[in-house]
Amino acid sequence: MEKIKMTTPLVEMDGDEMTRILWKMIKDELILPFVDLKTEYYDLGLPNRDKTADQVTIDSALATKRLGVAVKCATITPNVQRMSEYNLHEMWKSPNGTIRAMLDGTVFRAPITIPSIHPAVKFWKKPITIARHAYGDVYRDVEIQTTEPGVAKLVFEGVSGKREEMVIHEFKGPGVIEGMHNTDDSIRSFAHACFKYALDVKQTLWFATKDTISKKYDGRFKAIFEEVYQEYKDQFEAAGIEYFYTLIDDAVARVMRSEGGFIWACKNYDGDVMSDMVSTAFGSLAMMTSVLVSPDGKYEYEAAHGTVTRHYYKYLKGEETSTNPMATIFAWSGAFRKRGEMDNLPELINYANQLEAACFDTLNEGLTSKDLVNLMEGITPKSLTSLEFLRAIRERLAKRLGA
Ligand code: NAP
Ligand code: MG
Repeated sequence: MEKIKMTTPLVEMDGDEMTRILWKMIKDELILPFVDLKTEYYDLGLPNRDKTADQVTIDSALATKRLGVAVKCATITPNVQRMSEYNLHEMWKSPNGTIRAMLDGTVFRAPITIPSIHPAVKFWKKPITIARHAYGDVYRDVEIQTTEPGVAKLVFEGVSGKREEMVIHEFKGPGVIEGMHNTDDSIRSFAHACFKYALDVKQTLWFATKDTISKKYDGRFKAIFEEVYQEYKDQFEAAGIEYFYTLIDDAVARVMRSEGGFIWACKNYDGDVMSDMVSTAFGSLAMMTSVLVSPDGKYEYEAAHGTVTRHYYKYLKGEETSTNPMATIFAWSGAFRKRGEMDNLPELINYANQLEAACFDTLNEGLTSKDLVNLMEGITPKSLTSLEFLRAIRERLAKRLGA
């Protein structure tokens, strides 16, 4: 078989620990035998981030802006313990945070679903994608705890000299106060990313806030979404999808009774909480994909899980591992598909589809990593090592591609 051609390179962001090991295995087993792979390689592994004073993370984000599509391996976000483990010069910031800020992006998380793993919510038949606004609200708040009576006020001083002042509360005793904010720019970027992504995957978009209570704050989110939607309305109608706004409590009730198959855009806190609920209900973190979409249509694909440290320590001791590669493979297939669409390469799109189909073939035969064994119903699962699992997928992929 002749290898599938690419024209524009993908931005390849390598990472840490067990996922770095899997990264190479996936390339060796599932990609390099079939694709004439073109990437711009950035090593975001912690040692290289430290060596380059994190410049490599910035460079990789700039490359994503330039080339449009990136695929990222999970990376360590350093903490105190990692400082000594890796002998770091500094406690470098989360690469995901840096990349997200530079691309002004929104993260979409969607589960990979298979017939033998039943969601905890029996109505759910299709994946539910959560889009979480990644800026502001309670995550950028200021807080005061008072120990005595007094007055709390909300004050705004405009550059024009305009001043607004409101009493929050007259405290008769101890209490707590919180101030938070968001910006029109950030909300607008979030809205654009959501509408673009919905068109991309041809799924209806839901958005929900509590604008009946928070008339100005949440009301602003609702109004900006409605305003931005006007730019996409015709395309939505042509694609046969909808934009649907409702109250957050109504949305939660409807989600529980839905079949799935839509995107749920959430404010920052709602997205934090709901993404954990939805991913747990769908089965496993190892089956959750994640894509960062910028308002101008740049894409960075990755797995939602981390570097699977415990498995890496086993690997270092020479023990067999059974780490689930599914979300990382789907990061690659998502990136190939997007690259194929952008560069008009039907063969690359077909490769991405066949790669995912080969994963489903394997799982549907009950061949799996250890983490899914106890979740599968109606078939007899067989637990494979990390490499055996990838080789089983490779066999089915080769058959599908006629290679
Ligand atoms: P984690 O790597 O997601 O792993 C947590 C546990 O979930 C694992 O120990 C494992 O359970 C299970 N698991 C996750 N992915 C799996 C897979 N592919 N196959 C099988 N089991 C899987 O999260 P963490 O332990 O909290 O974080 C480890 C490192 O990852 C940290 O340094 C953190 O900073 C980083 N992190 C990076 C990202 C990112 O780059 N996007 C995201 C989250 C965390 P068992 O051990 O029980 O088998
Ligand atoms: Mg959370």
